[in-house]
Amino acid sequence: MTNKEYADVVIVGAGAGGATVGAELAEAGAKVVFLEAGMDLDITYGSENHFAESQNMGNFVDQDLFWHEQYTGTNWRTDMGECVGGGTTTYGGVLEESVPEDFKKWPFSHEEFKPYIQLTKKRYHVGRWNIEDLSPCAKHLHEISEGELEPIQSGYLKEPFEEFGVYHGKCNLCRMCLMGCKFNAKSNALTITLPKAKYYGATIKSNCLVTKLVTNISGTQITSIKYLKRTKTGRISETLERKEIFADKFILASGAMMTPMILHWSGSWGKALANSSGQVGKNLRAHFVRHTMGILNRDDLKTYIGQVVELGDKFKNYHKGFLTEYNMVSPPSFMSMIFEIMKSDVTTRFVGVDFKRLLRKWGSVINATPMAKSEDNGFTDNFVLPHKYKLNKYGLSMPNVHLEPNETEAGYVEVGAKYAGEMLRKAGADSANIFYGKIDNVHKKGSCRMGTDPSDSVTDLNGKCWDLDNLWISDGSLFPAPLMANCAFIIYALAYKVADGILDRDTPVD
Ligand SMILES: Cc1cc2nc3c(=O)[nH]c(=O)nc-3n(C[C@H](O)[C@H](O)[C@H](O)COP(=O)(O)OP(=O)(O)OC[C@H]3O[C@@H](n4cnc5c(N)ncnc54)[C@H](O)[C@@H]3O)c2cc1C
Ligand code: SF4
Repeated sequence: MTNKEYADVVIVGAGAGGATVGAELAEAGAKVVFLEAGMDLDITYGSENHFAESQNMGNFVDQDLFWHEQYTGTNWRTDMGECVGGGTTTYGGVLEESVPEDFKKWPFSHEEFKPYIQLTKKRYHVGRWNIEDLSPCAKHLHEISEGELEPIQSGYLKEPFEEFGVYHGKCNLCRMCLMGCKFNAKSNALTITLPKAKYYGATIKSNCLVTKLVTNISGTQITSIKYLKRTKTGRISETLERKEIFADKFILASGAMMTPMILHWSGSWGKALANSSGQVGKNLRAHFVRHTMGILNRDDLKTYIGQVVELGDKFKNYHKGFLTEYNMVSPPSFMSMIFEIMKSDVTTRFVGVDFKRLLRKWGSVINATPMAKSEDNGFTDNFVLPHKYKLNKYGLSMPNVHLEPNETEAGYVEVGAKYAGEMLRKAGADSANIFYGKIDNVHKKGSCRMGTDPSDSVTDLNGKCWDLDNLWISDGSLFPAPLMANCAFIIYALAYKVADGILDRDTPVD
């Protein structure tokens, strides 16, 4: 039996883009309901039930914080953050805002976008730590790079405060961010904007997987959303309840991989919804990378102690085509990296007793992430589209992913990895202890591009779908062209723009 529910606005996905737009709409008085496929998480400060209290891998797996949707295709690896808060729950907290030059490929200028950049900085408490506040290892990297490597802009909170009923501690430099922050000291969707949304009356329905948007007969409006309420009955077993929710407005914020899939699942006769441009699921892009790890031969530097931020080079290598971050990683992240993203010769080297030896040295292990600049004009050959016949466990078409760097990007990846290796050597790693990853990607985006022309874009510049009167998109899919930096900051900023569009506000609220 299908249960019917009602709201003013339904948002699919409670991650970076969804939470941000939802908080604004709830504050403006709308009855907002989030449908989130993943679990809800306790963030009560100091509670033993805080989802990140133990910060161990087993707990993490039990909470389903690993992305587990099925897919097929190339160059994809397990992602994390299928939960309330989305990818930001497990993200590194790096919140760079890209460079003005990047926006030349966008349909609006950096100057025009600036109010949203400022708003994001304020709402998400974004800041840059001083080099003096970083660990000796960070200072060392700063020095050996002759100042090229500097503290990156981040959401690591410098002072404790309480906001919307959530207490946030000061970041204590533990560098366990990818396991979630038990101090609520990493500003993200889970700790900042979802509490605000709830404060203004929004409801978060977790474990609710959206399967279909339903339209009116003429196909001009969404009338309801169908979803599956999932209840876990065991480690991999669950029961499903079919539900339907009606609303005036609908926002897709399920991330760059799933938003286009939901539009495809909702179409008929092989045609996706909102796809008169043919661009739904196309132009997928990411930052391609070969993670580079080294073991520093220095007993005086513990790469993990007191580490708070990755160091960025403030885009000094932008023209060479990459941006490097240095992640001083916690042991669980470091172990999964060895096995997931290193080249097979590295992985096979670290089996048995050699892995134990490596673990003993983990206090000297350092990871560089030289992310290649995406180089395209807004259109790519990469895609996430429904597979012709493979279905997932819910009977829905499986995402078929094609994600490969083009020739220029592949060149940048190699230059970036070389630079990272040289920097690690300078920092004190010998060549035998520098390991290169296989081609990997981070920051997927662009699969439902925004634009000014309905013939080559899915939405307008406020995320409203050209083809439907009451459907918006607010997530990484909107990127109309690549940007250099990590993308959560820009997704937050875009979501404020989407909110202004929905609320008919000419200028962003302060
Ligand atoms: C380990 C890790 C580290 C990262 N580090 C950084 C970093 O330091 N800086 C940075 O800028 N970015 C980082 N990122 C990337 C960043 O987290 C993402 O770019 C960002 O979260 C994407 O935002 P989004 O709104 O597009 O989607 P998400 O935040 O992923 O939100 C989408 C939500 O939709 C839900 N959903 C999906 N399908 C459905 C469905 N059918 N029904 C209902 N709900 C659904 C998902 O469960 C998810 O919660 C990192 C990501 C990971 C995984
Ligand atoms: S370094 Fe530690 S305290 Fe700081 S944000 Fe990350 S997990 Fe939280």
